[in-house]
Amino acid sequence: MSAYWEGAAIVGNPSSVHVFGRRSRAALERARRVIARAVGGPSAGTILTSGATEANGLALAQAGGGPILTSAIEHPSVLDARDALRLGCNGDGLVDPDDLAVAMERYHPALVSVMLANNEIGTVQPMEALAAIVHEYDALLHVDAVQALGRMDVDMSGLGADMLSISAHKIGGPKGVGALVVRDGLDIAPNMRGGGQEQRRRSGTEHVAGAMGFAAAIDAIDSRERERIRQLRDALENALAGEAVIVARQAPRIPNTSAIAMPGVTSAIQVMSLDLDGVAVSSGSACSSGKVSRSHVLEAMGVDEAIISSTIRVSLGWDTSDRDIECFIEAWRRVRNRCGSGG
Ligand code: PLP
Repeated sequence: MSAYWEGAAIVGNPSSVHVFGRRSRAALERARRVIARAVGGPSAGTILTSGATEANGLALAQAGGGPILTSAIEHPSVLDARDALRLGCNGDGLVDPDDLAVAMERYHPALVSVMLANNEIGTVQPMEALAAIVHEYDALLHVDAVQALGRMDVDMSGLGADMLSISAHKIGGPKGVGALVVRDGLDIAPNMRGGGQEQRRRSGTEHVAGAMGFAAAIDAIDSRERERIRQLRDALENALAGEAVIVARQAPRIPNTSAIAMPGVTSAIQVMSLDLDGVAVSSGSACSSGKVSRSHVLEAMGVDEAIISSTIRVSLGWDTSDRDIECFIEAWRRVRNRCGSGG
């Protein structure tokens, strides 16, 4: 009986869908507004996805058949999504606007994709300068802002982004939820077709609880904590500076990320040894299988082989304390003394 009435209501007039559907819709739209606001984007342009991998794929598909230009240090969800021309970076992991201008002139890409903050070394790109060049050539700019959200102010129109990807689990929200936020006036061709959800731009029943969790995680961001985290990260780097190599230390970086090399000890050994000491770090481009591959980021930066193979990625969380930093330094030195050439 109720199924009959539900069906009739939905087919006849979507706005008169039953009360449960209306509540769910209202919760979804509330969450969408919060997610859009977090990056200074329009609510109507916020397409909810299963994460940033899907958002990045949807963004890159907007090139149609045209050429795509990315940086060589993008996340694999960009690098492996499509054939693309790759732009190099300098020793700090920064894309040079002059190099971008040369590539735009030579290849005339339809779409350029550059991440705002890098997931391995934390470097923040000079996005406004890059955006100005991309738009001079009438190309679309996609920005992967997954690592930047929560750790720096993100305003997609200030950055000059036409599309911007974010993911809930990187800010403590649920896994499996993300969004592609699209500027006003840009039509998006869908990658997934079917029920026509998300204004026909991404079919599939919406993950309402996931979107609400994403919005809750955004609400919980406390930007006043950034400076405390930056100070802790800097204290950690200062303490180890004489013994370790800190990658891209002088570059503009998000406050919570540090790439630290212990020359002579492979990153895999460090990760395992630190894990036994209760310290969780990652290494290189750790992928979902837990397998560690060589860091394409450090490679693109022209970092020495000895440093590439001995670099770990340290990420501080909002609850990281002074004591955690002291414990890390002690554990790091124990590993060095046990496994390093002096040990
Ligand atoms: N882009 C960057 C920079 C990331 O760090 C990640 C995940 O680690 C992704 C994209 C993929 O996001 P998701 O796990 O939501 O698919």
